[in-house]
Amino acid sequence: MHIVVCVKMVPDTTLVQIDPKTNTLVREGVPFITNPFDTHAVEEALRLKDRYGGKVTALSMGPPAAEMVLRRALALGADEAVLLSDRAFGGADTLATSKVLSEAIRRIHENEPVDLVFCGLQTIDGDTAQVGPGVACRLGFTQLTLVDHIYEVNQRESYIEVRRKLEGAFERVQARMPALITTTREINTPRYPTVPGRLQAASRALPVWSNDVMKLERAEIGLQGSPTNVRRIFAPQREKGEIINGLNGAHLTAADCMLNKLYEWDILNAD
Ligand SMILES: Cc1cc2nc3c(=O)[nH]c(=O)nc-3n(C[C@H](O)[C@H](O)[C@H](O)COP(=O)(O)OP(=O)(O)OC[C@H]3O[C@@H](n4cnc5c(N)ncnc54)[C@H](O)[C@@H]3O)c2cc1C
Repeated sequence: MHIVVCVKMVPDTTLVQIDPKTNTLVREGVPFITNPFDTHAVEEALRLKDRYGGKVTALSMGPPAAEMVLRRALALGADEAVLLSDRAFGGADTLATSKVLSEAIRRIHENEPVDLVFCGLQTIDGDTAQVGPGVACRLGFTQLTLVDHIYEVNQRESYIEVRRKLEGAFERVQARMPALITTTREINTPRYPTVPGRLQAASRALPVWSNDVMKLERAEIGLQGSPTNVRRIFAPQREKGEIINGLNGAHLTAADCMLNKLYEWDILNAD
C-alpha cells in the first residue's frame, strides 16, 4: 500500500500579516510549525503502514523553509518526502495549491501507484478546508472528508471503510480506492519522533521539485493561477458594548431596558 500525506508549514501564530505590495504572507520573524491537523494525517498514515505494511510519502508545497515539516514526517517514520518549491508557486490560493499538489501526486502515482492520499481537514492559517477535496477532484480519487476513524482497508478488493464526523452524527462509509482522506484532530494522538529517527531524517537528501521539474502552466499556479487572493487580514472590530446595571434592586428596570433593546434591535417582534 502506498500512502501520500500532504503537510503544510503554517505560522505558529494568528498574528499574520499580508504584504500589501506582493499580496503574500509576511514570513520574516514569524515562527512556523507543521499544520496541527496534518500531524494527525501523518500519524494515521503511519498507523496504516504499521497495520498493513507499505510505504508513506510526505509532500509539501512551500518556500525552502518548508523542508522542516518534511524532515519531521521522515523522523516520525515516513519513507520518502518531496518538497514542491518555486517562487512561481508563491501566493497560491486553494485552486492553484491543489493544482500543484495533484500534479505532484500524479507524477508519484505514475512511478509507484498511490492507494490513499491523506490531508488534514484544514489549515490554521487559510482555514478553508478546500485543498483536500480540490486535489481529490483533480485526480478523480474518491474523497472522504471529516474522517475520525478508519475501520478497515481492504487492498484485495480495493476499498476503505471509515467513520465521518458530522454535526451531531457519525456516518460509516465504505469507498473505492484510490481515495483521499481528510482527517479531524480526534482521529488519533500523534507519536513523537525518536532520536534515531530525527538523526536519520536530518541527514536525508530531500528532493525539491521546482516548476522546471513540474513544467506547469504559469497561468494555473501561484498568484497568476489564483482567482482569489487575500488582500488584508485583520481582527474584526467590535463596537463598544453598553452596560445595563441591574444591581442594587435596579434589576426590573434593567430587565425592562433589555427588553426594549431587543425590540429596538428587531430581535424580538412587538406584534
Ligand atoms: C488568512 C488567510 C485566508 C485565506 N483565504 C483564502 C480563501 O478564502 N480562498 C483561497 O482560495 N485561498 C485562501 N487563502 C490562501 C490559502 O491559504 C492557500 O491557498 C493555501 O495554500 C491553501 O489553503 P488553506 O490554507 O485554506 O488549506 P486547507 O484547504 O485548509 O488545507 C487542507 C489540507 O490540505 C493540505 N495542504 C494545504 N496547503 C498545502 C501545502 N501548501 N502543502 C501541502 N499540503 C497542503 C494539508 O494537508 C491541509 O491540512 C488564505 C490564506 C490566508 C493566510
